[in-house]
Amino acid sequence: MNDSQLDPRYYPSPKDGCPCGAGNTFRDCCRPFLVESASIEDAAKTALGAKEFGSYLVLQRAELARYLLRHRRHTPTLCQTNPALGQQLLLIDIDAVFSLVESLFDAHVWAKKQTLLLGCLARLELAIDDSRWKNRIAYFRASAFYLLSNDRDSALAEFETYAGWRESEKESILQFGLDLTAENLGSAERREVCERIIAIKPSIENQVQYRTLVAMDLLLDDETALAVKLLRELHKEIFDVSTTGMSEMALYLVATSLVHLSFLENEDRRLPLLEKARGYYRTALERGSFTKLGLARLHALLGESYEIAGDYDAAMKYYVLAGDHSDRFDSRYGLARMAIERNEPDRALFQLRKLAEMNLSTSQLFDVNVLLGSVAIAKRCKDLAREVMTKFSHDATLPPALEKRAATLLSDLETILRESRKPQKRASWRRALSFLSKHLELKPNIGGFGINVNALIDGKPQGHPTTDDGSNSTRLLEK
Ligand SMILES: [Zn+2]
Repeated sequence: MNDSQLDPRYYPSPKDGCPCGAGNTFRDCCRPFLVESASIEDAAKTALGAKEFGSYLVLQRAELARYLLRHRRHTPTLCQTNPALGQQLLLIDIDAVFSLVESLFDAHVWAKKQTLLLGCLARLELAIDDSRWKNRIAYFRASAFYLLSNDRDSALAEFETYAGWRESEKESILQFGLDLTAENLGSAERREVCERIIAIKPSIENQVQYRTLVAMDLLLDDETALAVKLLRELHKEIFDVSTTGMSEMALYLVATSLVHLSFLENEDRRLPLLEKARGYYRTALERGSFTKLGLARLHALLGESYEIAGDYDAAMKYYVLAGDHSDRFDSRYGLARMAIERNEPDRALFQLRKLAEMNLSTSQLFDVNVLLGSVAIAKRCKDLAREVMTKFSHDATLPPALEKRAATLLSDLETILRESRKPQKRASWRRALSFLSKHLELKPNIGGFGINVNALIDGKPQGHPTTDDGSNSTRLLEK
């Protein structure tokens, strides 16, 4: 459209606030984009592809402003002249604006402008005059509370408001809210959250996923015996469930949980458990309904199960297969870990540098940095040790569970820097290596269940636009 088409009856004057919610005047914000005829959507795609997140944010704003102006122009009038049709259009508008705000939300995070979110949401709440729209804003506000201030109570209150609107989806919304807030909690609190999710919806998927998470949290608190007991009980129950009745998701979760248990058992018990896990993974694969990402993930997990069993050739084969399906985190991470295992630090470093170019979640970034730390140790490389240390010291947003580990890693790397001047002293190196290998052993409890498994299976809604293949707050960083 050209400038003259900005009809003053429906379009703000240049000095009015911009409809996109950024808080600027229309003239200084989205107006120039709306006057130009070029496609905002294409430009946004290009900016995202080039990882120019600042431009992407500006373009997403303009896209939203354009839709909201269209809404303002048509919907309220139709609601008066033809209420039945008007209400239909209103619902379409609410859905469309909801998904545009989802993209805008992510754009803020990627452009590191999260602090603007709450103000923006407050302005957008007024954009559509309907209580159902205000309810949806509650959903974004919940994510913002969680993201900005780790304010779990406010976030949950907002999620309850949102769930109250869509009674039929109450379970999944609450579960999503709990998932979202859980990452930043201490382990005891997180165990409570897991119990609450199981109570809300005791499906086999939730039982496996959240009881395993409880066990993993117990491990973080050094309650190994209790964790093993919980997992053994869980799998004794599962063993009686026929795989024909299980969803792909359930098969995936059971297999992954078995791999977790196998870490904790001695070798006699471990190998049969891994064998069983591979059986579940293969049954899931045969169903054939996985997305490319899901296939990559499954192959990476098969690789991992071979890696734990000490069959490195088979492991490498599956990691490479995982890479065929996707260039995502799992395959590269698996290859990096294998390279360290095989004492090939340079190959590991190559994969880790590639990983660092991706948009990673907090826990993925943590995992990558830990591996970089072990490369620093293996190569006795002071510069790399210093680099990893800087990364950890600058990351003020680590969840408590990771913070403790980061502190240990930091102190070990510090020792390395000191000790490297006296190469005869190897004790601290060994201590650091043992910390790292312990971390590597525990690795699946950070990565394995932190992902949105919905994203792995075709045709299932993701519940939320995730950044990663769908981790949650992880969701916010992994696209
Ligand atoms: Zn604007």
